[in-house]
Amino acid sequence: MNRRKFFKKSVIGSASLMTLNGFGNQKAWAFNKVDIKPAILGGEKSFTGQWPKWPIWNPATDEKQLLEVMRSGVWSRSKVTDEFEKKWAQLLGAKRSLAVVNGTNALNTSLAQLEIGWGDEVLVTPYTFIASVSSILFNGAIPVFVDVDPETFQMDPNKIEEKITPHTRAILPVHILGLPCDMERIMKIAAKHNLLVVEDACQAWLAEINGKKVGTFGKAGCFSFQNSKNMAMGEGGAIISDDDAFMDRCYSYHNYGNPHGTTAGQIGAGTVMIGTKLRITEYQAAIGLAQLKRLEAETELRNKNATYLQSLIGDIPGISPYKLYKNVTKAAYHLFPFRYHKEYFKGLSRAEFLKALQAEGIPCSAGYSELNKMPYLKNAFESKYFQKFYPTERLNYEKYAQANKCPLNEKLCNEEAVWISQSLLLSSKSDLDKIAGAIEKIQKHAELIVAKTK
Ligand SMILES: *Cc1c(COP(=O)(O)O)cnc(C)c1O
Repeated sequence: MNRRKFFKKSVIGSASLMTLNGFGNQKAWAFNKVDIKPAILGGEKSFTGQWPKWPIWNPATDEKQLLEVMRSGVWSRSKVTDEFEKKWAQLLGAKRSLAVVNGTNALNTSLAQLEIGWGDEVLVTPYTFIASVSSILFNGAIPVFVDVDPETFQMDPNKIEEKITPHTRAILPVHILGLPCDMERIMKIAAKHNLLVVEDACQAWLAEINGKKVGTFGKAGCFSFQNSKNMAMGEGGAIISDDDAFMDRCYSYHNYGNPHGTTAGQIGAGTVMIGTKLRITEYQAAIGLAQLKRLEAETELRNKNATYLQSLIGDIPGISPYKLYKNVTKAAYHLFPFRYHKEYFKGLSRAEFLKALQAEGIPCSAGYSELNKMPYLKNAFESKYFQKFYPTERLNYEKYAQANKCPLNEKLCNEEAVWISQSLLLSSKSDLDKIAGAIEKIQKHAELIVAKTK
């Protein structure tokens, strides 16, 4: 029996872990302090150091261009934003990129310029951030939810076709948590049914499927550079696409509807289309350029550390780490997720497990709530706008709610999902060992913790 198996057995069984202390230092965390009282019961914390802070800003290397922008007085959209867009497109292998104020508006704009709107249905995952869904409603279309594959946390491609109706115009795959969707299958389904694809890659900067960056599969790819994101600007977003006519329209739209490129008319000839204003500032672009210099190395490190952490916790009974689709060559890891099964922790609820893990010094959370059941949907259906544009039979909310049930997502949101945030994946291996050690410690003492929380 190898040490690992022996250890596992000892966790489930009753053999004392103390007997393992004589072994070498391989997987030392497993034999380290697992026996002592969990922090939530007053014991010593598993981790007492400092997790990496986010975002990272290095005055020596990052401030020069930002100061130049400040001192130039050119603060509105100009050359630095152009440079950022060029670099972003290059890095992803896309023909064009447009910087906009945030990821939400990258999605809003993309759907608007593909004329996805009133009367249309858009297929989307319920396991995402609100902006993926609100962009559909914002344009007057109706979101239709495709349940998740709990192993990958992504929209389940097997469940897409059953949701397609004559109203379906587009699929909006979200590479949620930074783990890519199965884009090869989704693109095949889209082609078969003649649907547009807009990728929400707002958590998936530089993630790849067979070496091709996510965001470049669909007609458009949307990104967010909000403060918490792996590519942080404070606020910011981008649209990428290979379609010049579409990108010209997006540009025009983000600049009051003024002409750009192939949109009809000449500069100075007046406004040519309905637009709004979504431009980023030059100082945001300067911050973005500084962050871009680190993004690839940080992504590599997160990938390496996620694989390591997964190998540590993958064998713990009751912990199911995420699975990547076979064709994924790189993930972005905005979050490191796993599923928690309380049966293996003496019935300790996920909420209590999270508290126990936090008490060990490991920041973690339960993640998303069920987006397909929140009040904003009924609110949209009952709004004057929807009532004006849709026939009554399409606004039967009870019927809609029934058809949009997602039982697997429900379980993921309410019972199983646990998230560890991206910045922890920038720490050292020995700190990651502490995460796994903390989970093992909680498991070993689960009965006592359950007793205490009763
Ligand atoms: C952050 C995020 C957005 C929205 O981006 P903002 O820049 O915050 O507007 C959209 N979709 C997903 C999946 C996100 O995580």
